[in-house]
Amino acid sequence: MQASPNADQRFVAYDPCRPVHFVVRPDNAIPGGDTLIREAVAAASAASGLQFVDDGTTTEAPTDNRPVFQPDRYGKRWAPLLIAWSTPAESPRLAGNVAGDGGSGYAQVTGQPLVLVAGQVRLDAPDLAGILASRPDGAAQVRAVIMHELGHVLGLGHVNDPGQLMHAENMGLVDYAAGDRAGLALLGTGPCAPQL
Ligand SMILES: [Zn+2]
Repeated sequence: MQASPNADQRFVAYDPCRPVHFVVRPDNAIPGGDTLIREAVAAASAASGLQFVDDGTTTEAPTDNRPVFQPDRYGKRWAPLLIAWSTPAESPRLAGNVAGDGGSGYAQVTGQPLVLVAGQVRLDAPDLAGILASRPDGAAQVRAVIMHELGHVLGLGHVNDPGQLMHAENMGLVDYAAGDRAGLALLGTGPCAPQL
């Protein structure tokens, strides 16, 4: 899901005045995967300045058009960020060599800026299990995939520079680079949205 800023809005971001809650769906998790998620979340938090809060596990399955408000499951608040180990069978967008996808839905009070409110990361468990098992730095490579998808969740798109983690294809990087960090830092400075 891509948000379209108003003409006077330079970027669309999460409300930095409240934490980004997240849940993990552990089905299909690869060995050590939960630790890699937590390390990636910590890296995204440090780079953006946004606080993340772990709301535990969920049984919610990822979907192409995930509702941003699910009161029956999560109460009367925006749904937490869903991080799910998935498969191409469950998530056809992960077919081929796509290791993951990520993004956020947005909300808006009329006349106010768009604000990101609820995201989703889908991780291709079979692909990432293969990376983990076949490369000496496999764990770091998997963590980098999660960090890339969290970059999308927080509002970053792809860049042409292969020296950045937000390049469409990871060229072996295992951490955010300077451009990634500049973008994430900016995305930590969005407007507060107490009405949402
Ligand atoms: Zn991407």
